[in-house]
Amino acid sequence: MSHILKKEAFVIPEGVIYLDGNSLGPMPRGVAARVQSMLEDEWGGMLIRGWNGAGWMDQPSRVGDMVGRIIGAPVGSVVMGDTLSIKVFQALASAVKLNPERRVILSDTGNFPSDLYMAEGLVGLLEQGYELRTVAPEEVLSAIDDSIAAVMLTEVDYRTGRKHDMKPVTQAVQAAGCIMIWDLAHSAGAIEVDLWEANCEFAVGCTYKYLNGGPGAPAFIYVRPDLADHVQPALSGWLGHRAPFAFDLDYRPGAGIERMRVGTPPVIQLTALEVAMELWDGVDMQELRAESLKLQEQFIAEVERDIPQLTLASPRDTSLRGSQVSFRFAEGYAAMQALIDRGVIGDFRAPDIMRFGFTPMYLDAGDVSSAVAILADVMHNDLWDQDTYKTRSKVT
Ligand SMILES: *Cc1c(COP(=O)(O)O)cnc(C)c1O
Repeated sequence: MSHILKKEAFVIPEGVIYLDGNSLGPMPRGVAARVQSMLEDEWGGMLIRGWNGAGWMDQPSRVGDMVGRIIGAPVGSVVMGDTLSIKVFQALASAVKLNPERRVILSDTGNFPSDLYMAEGLVGLLEQGYELRTVAPEEVLSAIDDSIAAVMLTEVDYRTGRKHDMKPVTQAVQAAGCIMIWDLAHSAGAIEVDLWEANCEFAVGCTYKYLNGGPGAPAFIYVRPDLADHVQPALSGWLGHRAPFAFDLDYRPGAGIERMRVGTPPVIQLTALEVAMELWDGVDMQELRAESLKLQEQFIAEVERDIPQLTLASPRDTSLRGSQVSFRFAEGYAAMQALIDRGVIGDFRAPDIMRFGFTPMYLDAGDVSSAVAILADVMHNDLWDQDTYKTRSKVT
């Protein structure tokens, strides 16, 4: 029996097999009571005294250390706040300042669009000849040259699950004098990450996917400890100031990672996330990764055996894959809606990707077999071929 499976710790509705923890993790059972007591006892009872008395002001660093533990970041090197898009912007802005002679930000076309949009926004703001360059994921290494200030990559591709090899890529990037930023949106809580060993300068990620922090849970940012007192924050908000309550008229960056804070922390969301992070106590990421791959391999084998209409879109080699498996099907959107209607929840990414996330904390081999059986029924009997399943919602 695996030590990883903690199904009873999550709220998963009867009759649902949840294969979408890569997009929004389910609610840990302990969250509702703790958030309720935070609301009533802390906000309700303590009012403004909660900032000191209930530890709200230190929560971004306290929870940051809990996240840091599962991504191999030393204590005091991770802080929570804002959304991932904002953290991408912060990391990029600080990275290019560390490399002032160069003007190019390199990323790849497999990156999540928001990361690229934020880079475009930054380039527009900086002017002075800055440029965002994107190449195919397989061409990143050969595209590195001495014009590049910073390389920003998402380790695991949100559509296909394809995974970059963090350590050698970082080494190649740094050997060319560039700064490395890793986006861990689909890595944190999904696969083993060792930021200390990888030695990258920056990392960012979100917490509502594999970390189960809930919709709108804050993002995290890591700055390598030797740089944390030197990086220049572009979003120089008062809570990243060295002495916020001195109310100086001029900005002075805070000590270390604290300078990456911006404004008032989302205390209610952080409370939910803190409860969710407690579930990671004692979880061995190597063991979790092994369990995740076992479920993925079972899913791929059973789908390929039973459902020839679907084509694997993820790398077959497990070392090149994160914690999700994607299949292509021309009517993938409708097929996914039909599947969701029958209790198997995955999601769809344009143009034709059906995405399934594997999270061994609340999924076992029986769930995988049941999901494949229901998917086979949908596909063999064309149950997706109905107008109601073809009308696209705002969120896919
Ligand atoms: C999920 C995800 C985001 C989302 O950013 P938010 O600002 O939190 O909405 C950004 N980048 C990547 C790589 C993602 O996977």
